[in-house]
Amino acid sequence: MFSPPVPAHLLLFRILNSTLISTNSPFYQAHCIHCRLPDSFCPCAKLKKTTLPFEIVLLTHSSEWQKNHNTGQWFTISADKVQRLIWSRKMPAVDIQPGDFLLFPGEQAVEITNQSSGVATPIKRLWLIDGTWQQAHKVLRQSPWLQAMPQLKLENIESQFNLRRNQRGLCTMESAITALSCAQPEFDDQHLWANFHQLQQAYQSISSGPAVD
Ligand SMILES: [Zn+2]
Repeated sequence: MFSPPVPAHLLLFRILNSTLISTNSPFYQAHCIHCRLPDSFCPCAKLKKTTLPFEIVLLTHSSEWQKNHNTGQWFTISADKVQRLIWSRKMPAVDIQPGDFLLFPGEQAVEITNQSSGVATPIKRLWLIDGTWQQAHKVLRQSPWLQAMPQLKLENIESQFNLRRNQRGLCTMESAITALSCAQPEFDDQHLWANFHQLQQAYQSISSGPAVD
């Protein structure tokens, strides 16, 4: 039977009432522009910023860029000397300098250790791909300039990030902190870990928080 078209304002009402996230959800509140959590859950006032011994660049996949639980963003607000770039296949190639390294467990990767006994060139800028493993492989495959960067890898360390169901290994913030501590054992990482746990707990305390892949 023919049905007349639904007026736009009623259609919007129906959509809002049928979405997976209820309009009562904290995700409909105003959000903090720093941690990206709903204002009433924002832990930013308790976070402490750390000075890093070298630069870190996060090359973020577009589908991770706006997520509320993106730990690359959490790391960015927890330290100085962090750049967060959105990756695109067409982004201009970066001029790789001595001291640029990519944290990625490729076949030629050298284990990241104390700089005195590890790689010959000190780390000046450490690049991390911020995304799932599948996204990280895609970013590397589609970025010839990134493939030319020497790689460093971490030993197998168990993740404490429990907001994901289908990903193995460390999240971006854990990877960055662990890399810093491995490269420079005297580096004081306690505030970074404290921030990581504060932000993770804040996200988990949002009872209607959506499941994470
Ligand atoms: Zn905040």
